Parts: sequence; C-alpha cells; structure tokens
Amino acid sequence: MLLDKSGRVVAATDRNTIGANHRQDPYFVEALRSNDTVFTSFENDTGAFVFNYSRKVMSNGELAGVIVVEVDLRQFEQSWAGISDAVIVTNSEGKIILSTEPRWRGLTEEEAVARTSPSSAISRAIQATADWSALPFDAYVLGEAVMRMNARIPFQGWSMTIFTPYTSVRERVNGVLALEIMGFALFLAVAFYFASRRARARSVVYQQESAELRQLNEALQREIAERQKAEHHLNIAEQTLAQSSKLAALGEMSAAVSHELNQPLAAMKTYLAGSKLLLQRKRPEEALSSFQRVDDLIERMGSITRQLKSYARKGGDAFEPIDLRHAFSSALAMMEPQLKRQEARITRHMPMEPVMVMADRVRLEQVIINLLRNALDATKTAVDPTIEILISGGETATLSVRDNGHGIEDLDSLFEPFYTTKAPGDGVGLGLAISSGIVNDFGGRLTARNGANGGAVFEMKLPILKDQVEAAE
Ligand code: ADP
Repeated sequence: MLLDKSGRVVAATDRNTIGANHRQDPYFVEALRSNDTVFTSFENDTGAFVFNYSRKVMSNGELAGVIVVEVDLRQFEQSWAGISDAVIVTNSEGKIILSTEPRWRGLTEEEAVARTSPSSAISRAIQATADWSALPFDAYVLGEAVMRMNARIPFQGWSMTIFTPYTSVRERVNGVLALEIMGFALFLAVAFYFASRRARARSVVYQQESAELRQLNEALQREIAERQKAEHHLNIAEQTLAQSSKLAALGEMSAAVSHELNQPLAAMKTYLAGSKLLLQRKRPEEALSSFQRVDDLIERMGSITRQLKSYARKGGDAFEPIDLRHAFSSALAMMEPQLKRQEARITRHMPMEPVMVMADRVRLEQVIINLLRNALDATKTAVDPTIEILISGGETATLSVRDNGHGIEDLDSLFEPFYTTKAPGDGVGLGLAISSGIVNDFGGRLTARNGANGGAVFEMKLPILKDQVEAAE
C-alpha cells in the first residue's frame, strides 16, 4: 500500500483498499516517527494479527507519503501444521501472535491454556501458577501431559513456546532406549561368547589336568599296593628269620646245656659206682660222702636248669614305666641275706628326681641282683670290700656297679653262656649272658670294663622315658 501524507491509500496490490484512510494505524504513525524502516504488528478488527514493514517516502526533503508492506507470517503456522507439537509465538506484551492453535491467537499463554482445557484438573494446576514466565517444564494441555520448551527470539521481544506431548518424546526416548538395549544385548552376547569360549578352553585344560592327576593317582595307588605287598613279604621274611635265629639259638643253647649237664652226670655216674662198691665193701661212711657229692652235683644241675628257665621266659608283655632308683632299692632288699653274711661297704649316688625307664620289673631287678651278686663274689677276698652304685638320668638312664675286687679276667667271653671262673657250685656262668639278653630286650646295653684302680665296672644303659619323668616330677 502506498499512502499519501494524510494516510490515504493511493496505490495498493488490493485495489479494494484504495481510498481508505490509515492515519490512525500504527504502521503509519510509527513510520512518520522514524527515518528508518519500521516493523509493526497489531490486532485488526477481526482479531487477526497483521505484520507490516513501513517507511516514509521523502521527496525533495519533504514528506511525500508512507509505503507499507504487509507480511503474511501465517505461512510459518502452515509449515508447523502436521507436527505433533503445539507452537506459539508471543510478542513483547505476552500476547500470542502466532500459533498452531488458531483459537489461541490474541490471548496470553495463560488464557490460551485455560481456554482450551478449562475442565482439566491438571490445567487448573497450571492456572494456579501465578508466574507464567516460570511455567514448569512439564505442563498439561487438553488433559495430556506435555513438555514445555520456551525460547526467546531476538526480535521485538518475541518468544517461542513449544508444547511437546510426552508420548512423542517417549516414543523417541523409547527408540533410543531400544537401540541402546539392542546395543547392550549385542555387547552382552559378544562378551558371553568370548567368556564361554574361554571357559571351554579352560575346561579342556582342566580336563587334561584332571586326567593327568587321575593317571598320577592310579600310579601312586599301584606303587602303594606294591609297597604294601613288599612290606608284607618283608614281614614274613622277618618272622621266618626270627624263627630260624631262635631255632639256631636253641640249637646252640641245647649243645651247651647238654655239654654242661653231661659233665656232672658223668661225675654222678662215677660217684654212684664208687658208692656202690663202698657199700658192697661195707664202708658206708665213705659211701655217704660220695652221696653228698652226688647231691651237690644234682644241686648244680638244678641251678643250671633254673637259670635256663628264666632265660627262656620271654618278657615284653609286662613292660611298665619304672624308676630305676626304686628297682635298685628293691633288688638291694632282696640281697639282704647275702649282704648280712658278707661284710661289704655299699655306697650309692643317685639323683633326687626319678630316672624312668620302660621295663619288666622282675627281670630288671634280676639283672641288678646278678650284678650285685657278682660284685659281692669278686670282693670276697678284698681288703676293704666296697661296692659303688651310681644311677644317673639325662639322655639315657645309666646304672653302674663298680667294685674293688679282682677285676675281669677275660672281657671277650664275659657274656657267653657258661663262662665262669668260679668254683663249681658257686657259679654256672649264665648270670651275665641272661642279664645282657634282658637289657637288650629293654632296648639297652650291658657293658663291662676293668676300673683304672682295679676292680670291675659294669654299666647298664637304658633308654630314658622323658614324658614319664616329667609326670612323676
Ligand atoms: P657266674 O657268676 O655264675 O660265674 P656270670 O655270667 O654272672 O656267671 O659271670 C661270669 C664270669 O664273669 C664270672 O665267673 C667272673 O669271672 C666274671 N665276673 C662277673 N662279674 C665280675 C666282677 N664283678 N668282677 C670280676 N669278674 C666278674
């Protein structure tokens, strides 16, 4: 439209408007005030918003009129049509000038939301909000939950608000979520594939290892079985050996016994033949003394068999913890009659604490008695017969018997059965052989030597019983 300086239309694209006066309209008023092109928007009589660019026209420094160009912004509205969002553009006064919802035009945002959904409770909640510039991001339009986004347009103080229903947002979010879930599922599947591949590889290794272990185990089992068999054979062999060595010992012993018994038997035969002759010749007195000799020989044979009996008696069942000091005391008590008959000084040295050993009481005492009796016999002719007994503990239990007698003549044959230097009737030479056998049975050792100052020293060493020593203490 071209207006003259009075505001009348002189030319227009719409010929119907020619002649109309627009002196009051803002685009004319604003243009006159400015030397530049001005933009104006106002609500016309029909309630529609009109947007204009206008500029005054000067001719030779004088005002000739105003040229006005109306802008149709509704094509923007048309371009918004078809999208699911509701879009509004408000001017600096907060009035809706453009909107996808035609009924909202000319209203404020508050009025618009109220108008379209007056009954909605959620809308009422929005109405209650006084400050519309601080509208929440979430709003309800037409009872539908929507998301409100507001942007300021750097032109004329306008701002644009978009209401997006959650369903579409949700659809988009769901799409993204679905994509993410798919991606994650794919990642999981790949991870699972690799994990299962590794597990399979590992289980193959385990299977190999367990197969090897099984083989090793079987080999061990075989070895154990073989060892058990070998051990069994060894046991049988040991038993056989023990049996045969016993038999050998028996053979040796019987040879010695028969030799020992044959001699007194031969003597007895001679004495009996002599006494028979003496009786025939009526010499009973002499015959009686021969009988006495026979009696002595019988006595000697009896003592041999007695000692053999004790040698044959196998111990081991009655092993018990014994204090060596007590064993010595009771052995000494049994020697009382001999000690009374024969004057001998007996000195003893023994520790205050018990000296425990594992032994058969009777046989241990028998050994001690044998040693004491031998010492008494050896000191029979000594000037000041002295027998010294020393008992000590520590690593091994030791009992030594030292005398000041004549000393040992033959150390090598001392422990042989029937070795004796004593007169017939005084000894048969079995005491030390038996004693050494007994001490061996107890796991110990019986030794003998000659003392530096003469006399003999017999030493019995036995394994000590440590736990029992502490218990007894
Ligand atoms: P027996 O006492 O019947 O002779 P033993 O076996 O007890 O039998 O002793 C064997 C021999 O050892 C004795 O005859 C003696 O010669 C020697 N003997 C034993 N004890 C002593 C000792 N304390 N001193 C010297 N000789 C000893």
